[in-house]
Amino acid sequence: MNHKKFATKAVHAGVEPDPHTGAIMTPIYQTSTYVQESPGKHKGYEYSRTHNPTRTALQQSLAALENGKYGLCFASGLAATDAVLKLLKPGDEVIATNDLYGGTYRIFTKVFERFGIRFKFVSMDDPSSLEKEITANTKLFWVETPTNPLLNVVNIKAIAAVAKAHQAWCVVDNTFATPYLQNPLDLGADLVVHSVTKYLAGHSDVVMGAIVTNHEALHQELRFLQNACGAVPGPQDCFLVLRGIKTLHLRMKAHVENAGILAQYLQQHPKVARVYYPGLATHPQHALAKEQMKGFGGMISFCLKSDDIQDALRVLEKLELFSLAESLGGVESLCGHPATMTHASIPKAEREKAGLSDTLIRLSVGIEDSDDLIADLQQAIG
Ligand SMILES: *Cc1c(COP(=O)(O)O)cnc(C)c1O
Repeated sequence: MNHKKFATKAVHAGVEPDPHTGAIMTPIYQTSTYVQESPGKHKGYEYSRTHNPTRTALQQSLAALENGKYGLCFASGLAATDAVLKLLKPGDEVIATNDLYGGTYRIFTKVFERFGIRFKFVSMDDPSSLEKEITANTKLFWVETPTNPLLNVVNIKAIAAVAKAHQAWCVVDNTFATPYLQNPLDLGADLVVHSVTKYLAGHSDVVMGAIVTNHEALHQELRFLQNACGAVPGPQDCFLVLRGIKTLHLRMKAHVENAGILAQYLQQHPKVARVYYPGLATHPQHALAKEQMKGFGGMISFCLKSDDIQDALRVLEKLELFSLAESLGGVESLCGHPATMTHASIPKAEREKAGLSDTLIRLSVGIEDSDDLIADLQQAIG
């Protein structure tokens, strides 16, 4: 299936008609255990923490979408991140993008630092500047691109090459781009991590994570961790994501088209100071985004000319079609205020160091009619 084109994989990868009934949709195998013929003699399934057929289908689908050999699903995006970090041992160092999903920053600094793993948060704008951060203990590069919420674009190929030269792994959080727009494994990354919760599930009704890789040994270790630590998703959620993935390419086309239209609109708005969207010619890494991605994604951030936080909060309260909520990537448009919501767990000093202002507004542009979305922005910004 890996050689097929994306839309075909989205519809078919990992999914076979049910061998017992011919059901075209993978059933929700809502079972914790499997009957054995005699001790140790079974059909490949023993216990649902270890394996579940609905999860297996989804894992194969996700692997195919990322052009990877192996996929693993976890109970949330952060549970997937947790598994990756457990590949390390005390004393190991991680070099991470400084403009990072807030929960990722939190699990790094508040959980894994306690276990003796060290983190450096750096701008990855200039990959050659990373050399001075690398030590003999550097084991992992953690890349998020486009970044959240400033939509910076990091050069995956360049960072993966730096990682390889130092026998470290390059991990890419591909949540914002999705495999429809960006394939980190093809660019040299060792592992791709997803918050499946977002575009992959796509309908704001599931929390889930995933890891995809081409490395057999890394996969085996992660599979061991998936079973040993046990943060697995249930079969009903796996079914919902299998269903969501069938329209991933169609949804992403609509998200990208709408986001492009809204970014242009916001850029010429007299009350808007700056728009962050990789698709704008004014974006500092527009050329890199064009090269690395098949489209510029559905996320936009912007800040107002006013630097009064109250003005930003008023816009958020007035928006009607954009619901004020955490999360992103569903069919419906959402808006958020990173400084008080998704990134509140990052200290203000760290936020400002990364260029994240208190008046920044983040939009997850949905697949509604773009005329209605523009009208909503117009009445809210004034
Ligand atoms: C949401 C998100 C996560 C965490 O995923 P959960 O499913 O919420 O645990 C990680 N990275 C990015 C970029 C995210 O947007």
